[in-house]
Amino acid sequence: MKIIRTIGALQRELKARRRRNETVGFVPTMGALHAGHLSLVRRARQDNDVVVVSIFVNPLQFGPREDFRQYPRTLKEDVACLKNECDVIFAPPAGEIFPPGFSSRVEVPEADHFLCGRSRPGHFTGVMTVVAKLLNIVGPDAAYFGRKDAQQAALIAKMVRDLNFPVKIVTCPIVREPDGLAMSSRNAYLSGKERRDAVVLFQALKSAERMVVRGQRNVSKIIAILGDLIIRTNSARVDYIAVVDKDTLEPLKSISGTALLCLAVWIGTTRLIDNTMLKVK
Ligand code: AMP
Repeated sequence: MKIIRTIGALQRELKARRRRNETVGFVPTMGALHAGHLSLVRRARQDNDVVVVSIFVNPLQFGPREDFRQYPRTLKEDVACLKNECDVIFAPPAGEIFPPGFSSRVEVPEADHFLCGRSRPGHFTGVMTVVAKLLNIVGPDAAYFGRKDAQQAALIAKMVRDLNFPVKIVTCPIVREPDGLAMSSRNAYLSGKERRDAVVLFQALKSAERMVVRGQRNVSKIIAILGDLIIRTNSARVDYIAVVDKDTLEPLKSISGTALLCLAVWIGTTRLIDNTMLKVK
């Protein structure tokens, strides 16, 4: 496994592998790796000859009052975690990706109108811009993203379609802790009590799934019941609860077929997101 810090060195390495007709799978991350990230790396390993994992805490996707400075940076542990799992770790310094004078943006304008985009204006422009750059730098055959960040995965798939990036986007299932909490680098912010409280997100998703199985189709009713369930946990505050079309992410009034239930909940000062598919048989 090679650790590469510059675009030039990465491209030389990949050029040599491509000359041998090897396919490249790419997993972009911000590090502080956990089993959720590893599931993407292992899927990329199954599908490709070469696996590249990037570790880059992208300053563009954090708002001015968000946790960019605090975000866990654990390169040593990440390298140990990826040993025998990938071929190349691309861990560039910030100036390699955003050199002085960098100002272009890739934007999906409607992204800020719903779900996380409403609470985090500009966040997805930061994500799209860095993902577009990384896809251009790596030039992978396939890139792997987690369904945990459902809006992000849908917007990246759209950007790739809209702009004809020659890459296949693969979306992988959510990996959870034994009590159901979705794995996230931000779970490290939670105190012991908050960590126990955080399971309320998963409980809310399961409760909604049961309502749908019992015949509930009315989205406002489901959202109201989940809101009541979540605020019973003292440290929890709802940012949003939404039921949307699984492909377009447009809000739904009632459920038929498969709908996507998305939650963003503050546990103390940590904002967590999760989601599940609600299926009508
Ligand atoms: P991040 O480091 O948070 O930017 O995440 C990098 C990639 O890992 C993104 O595609 C995430 O959606 C994915 N990811 C994060 N947490 C999980 C999880 N619990 N299960 C599956 N994928 C995840």
